[in-house]
Amino acid sequence: MQINYLCNLFAGGICHKEGLYYCAMCANFDAEKYGEPYIHREHQLQGISYCAHHEVPLREYPVTGDSRIEYIRFELRHMNLSELYEVDSHEEVAIQLAKQAYKLLQIPLHSLTKIEISSMYKALLRKKNLITAANRVRQQDLYQMIKLGLSEELLTRYESNFNEEDEYNWVKVLTQY
Ligand SMILES: [Zn+2]
Repeated sequence: MQINYLCNLFAGGICHKEGLYYCAMCANFDAEKYGEPYIHREHQLQGISYCAHHEVPLREYPVTGDSRIEYIRFELRHMNLSELYEVDSHEEVAIQLAKQAYKLLQIPLHSLTKIEISSMYKALLRKKNLITAANRVRQQDLYQMIKLGLSEELLTRYESNFNEEDEYNWVKVLTQY
């Protein structure tokens, strides 16, 4: 509840993934190796719809029972383990997002200070010539670059479209320091 509230403070917060997700190939592998499939945290992340390891779409696990507090474990008999998937025109981006998100999970992010993270962003922005001589972010150019590079359609799909006029849009919040 608290996290939802915090994310919704900023337009573009991706906070709407509900349910539990799995990758059919991971499930098969886990079942063989450990005797049963388990819930992978990298498959539950907001905005992530592909498996970073197998590059296939995730499927939602049918959670049965209406108790809000219950012990859920994955059971193969409730899983769709078919290797047939629908064609997805955004597959490449979705796979890249999944891989990047998985990488982030491996990094001890909590050990980085806000200043360290900010300076990393700044270095990346500088490489793209998005920092002025006065050390300010060229916001308009950055907006353009994001909208052209990712397309409005993609931004909308990932609940990340933003209003440039809004001083709390996520791009600005992320790059302001
Ligand atoms: Zn997988």
